[in-house]
Amino acid sequence: MKRRWKREPILKLLLVICCILTAIYMAVQVARLAGSPAMKSVGGAAGEGVILIDPGHGGADGGASAADGTMEKDINLQIALPLADMLRFLGYPVEMTRDTDRSIHDPDVTTIKNQKISDMKNRLSLVNESRLTISIHENHFPQTQYFGTQIFYGTNNAESVLLADTVRESVIGLLQPENTRELKKGTKDIYLLHNAKVPIILVECGFLSNTAELQKLKDPSYQQNMAYAVACGLLEYDQ
Ligand SMILES: [Zn+2]
Repeated sequence: MKRRWKREPILKLLLVICCILTAIYMAVQVARLAGSPAMKSVGGAAGEGVILIDPGHGGADGGASAADGTMEKDINLQIALPLADMLRFLGYPVEMTRDTDRSIHDPDVTTIKNQKISDMKNRLSLVNESRLTISIHENHFPQTQYFGTQIFYGTNNAESVLLADTVRESVIGLLQPENTRELKKGTKDIYLLHNAKVPIILVECGFLSNTAELQKLKDPSYQQNMAYAVACGLLEYDQ
């Protein structure tokens, strides 16, 4: 059971965690520059206890695209990479569905449509071998006024909504105090959420269709802040 918090102590706790994560992130960057071999694990069989980070889309599937040509798949990866690094430095076993711009379809599949189907099936296999999965996406509406992170949760495992709740609290507390979006259940249209057996959330970090939010989403420091906020939410869930 998750207890309900009073908001101010939570904000203080989140800020402390955020400072720690900042230090960790700096250390990760130093380790990367030094060529540390301990950082990578992509695709393949997920081990027990593994946290799977899933940057949505990739390769021929760009996901949504902004008016300026920014593609969702790229923003997803730019947020997912620091998120995975931070969690590894905290000691979590982490795998990613992809850590470059690619689809993970079977190599013998030829048409784009079948590649997309194969990609989603392979992602689902990895999801169901993980302890929990965080999928990173961006939103896009025809109207330009909408903004703010929206979190969806899987419906086959009761833990999904608890994870979604702590990540939502963290994102709102650290980054978006004006965000009033409620959690949403994953419908059958969201393949991974509908079929995953393990706890899973899908974080639509922001709207590519909102000019101001698009500028933030393209900013590397905002991308890292979003990654921190999601990581803080996971830490709170895991307490
Ligand atoms: Zn997407």
